[in-house]
Amino acid sequence: MTKKYSLYLAIFSCLLFLQCKPVKETVQLPEIIDKPIVFDETRKQLSLEYLRDRYGMEKETPTIIPRIIVLHWTVIPTLEEAFEAFNPPTLPNWRPDIKDVSGLNVSSQFMVDRDGSIYRLLPETTMARHVIGLNHCAIGIENVGGTEAMPLTEAQLKSNIELVNYLADKYAIDYLIGHYEYTYFENHPLWLEKDKGYRTQKTDPGEDFMGKVRRATKNLNFAPIPKKPMTP
Ligand SMILES: [Zn+2]
Repeated sequence: MTKKYSLYLAIFSCLLFLQCKPVKETVQLPEIIDKPIVFDETRKQLSLEYLRDRYGMEKETPTIIPRIIVLHWTVIPTLEEAFEAFNPPTLPNWRPDIKDVSGLNVSSQFMVDRDGSIYRLLPETTMARHVIGLNHCAIGIENVGGTEAMPLTEAQLKSNIELVNYLADKYAIDYLIGHYEYTYFENHPLWLEKDKGYRTQKTDPGEDFMGKVRRATKNLNFAPIPKKPMTP
């Protein structure tokens, strides 16, 4: 065997070996910056109360089993202002004597800045108040901006797609929805809100943005959103 021939053989064997190695599809991990909001005893107790009073869930810790990803926009124009809005444990102007309204402040597990930087405000499986009826199973991604003067950016779109891929790889996620679609779940087994009068009208994060994220994550095969319940 000539030297040259053995070299070819060696290269060929290497290539063959590489070819045969099982190729595991790896999800590219997005860069996530931890920037925790206050999660003190007050927030913990209010979260447990929320799960109990609104959903009938008695729990020791306010954790969720993620099944839905909900995309939002903040309308608030900067990351710092949006962070400050979510940071306090209680809603501004909350009066503890009004018992039928939860004092738990709104928040979300993730926030994406205008430049696409991804911040994690809470552990992924801690409950955040961001979507009526579904907080016990929903991970929220807020996007800074969203007004006509400040539409969501290409960088935010890219980061949302990366985050959705990352979360779908990590948890058994069935649905990806825009906040404006949440009422479609009213008759769904995952819908647990007890108060039929507690609804808000939402438009975030816009149909255009939602459509783009859906098209880019088609391969994840999320279930179609339920049909709109018949209005009486
Ligand atoms: Zn929203």
